[in-house]
Amino acid sequence: EKYDKGLEKSRKSFGNRLSKLFVDFHGVDDDFYDDLEETLIEADVGFDTAIQISEEVRDEIEYEHVSTPEQISEVIVRKLVSLYTRNGKQEDNHLVFSKEGPTVFLFVGVNGVGKTTSIGKLAARFKARGRKVLLAACDTFRAGAIEQLQEWGRRDGVDVVAGKEQSDPAAVVFEAVKKAKAENYDLLLVDTAGRLQNKVNLMNELDKIKRVISREISDAPHETLLVLDSTTGQNALTQAKAFLETTSVTGIILTKLDGTAKGGIVLPIRNQLHLSVKYVGLGETVEDLSPFDPEQYVNGLFK
Ligand code: GDP
Repeated sequence: EKYDKGLEKSRKSFGNRLSKLFVDFHGVDDDFYDDLEETLIEADVGFDTAIQISEEVRDEIEYEHVSTPEQISEVIVRKLVSLYTRNGKQEDNHLVFSKEGPTVFLFVGVNGVGKTTSIGKLAARFKARGRKVLLAACDTFRAGAIEQLQEWGRRDGVDVVAGKEQSDPAAVVFEAVKKAKAENYDLLLVDTAGRLQNKVNLMNELDKIKRVISREISDAPHETLLVLDSTTGQNALTQAKAFLETTSVTGIILTKLDGTAKGGIVLPIRNQLHLSVKYVGLGETVEDLSPFDPEQYVNGLFK
């Protein structure tokens, strides 16, 4: 249901455009496949992915002798889902937890993509399942970022470790990991800075944060989650590539799917970057975060 509502924009525009394919439908000819490719590109699946889907749809339609618009739509939906799932496992949206001691998740991403909000939402989720959660405010660079995480902490009823503005993020994370170990927290969620203008500094900073974490807990961070804003379309991909150049990422949180008609970005993320989308943000409130489910997602686009 959350998916249905959150994907309303994508669904309306993608679904409308897709149904337009069948307005003066006179069989599956080259024009039909050109229109299909265009529709997919407009939904931000990317050029290569659009061509690939179109070719696979063509093969299946010819092989299965499919001809009605309903059957053709079904083939398209199935191809989109399989393009996501074939490169991974069903349980791909699962997160890795520590077997013993605190689990640490590091959140990275450019300013404004929804890092802090996603941490706030996840913290509430885990707390509701009885986990003892600690947040670390390591975005010490941006005025207001610490404040914002503390506000989520108050709202969720979870503890926050924060230094002063401009303090060393590595020192903050060190404090947080020590506290998490000493006071038996189940989960530590670490917010980081996202000023990509100064890429080298940022990457050094992330590197240092990671080193501090793994010095204290050898198999941590258990996840490094890159947060991407789906409304930025293909820019989200460019950002992801920039992060992947210098830091290892274990999964994606894709935010603001409620605010875009371009939900198709999920497919290139998977196919070009080989990363799984773990969670999607579907609004601004604490409940608006769902584990990613490719089938639900693609069906949501077409309904
Ligand atoms: P950060 O700089 O990466 O930490 O980004 P923030 O968490 O501060 O989020 C930036 C803005 O995006 C805020 O106004 C959030 O309310 C908003 N936001 C975050 N996630 C979502 C989402 O899934 N949907 C919508 N509509 N807004 C979101």
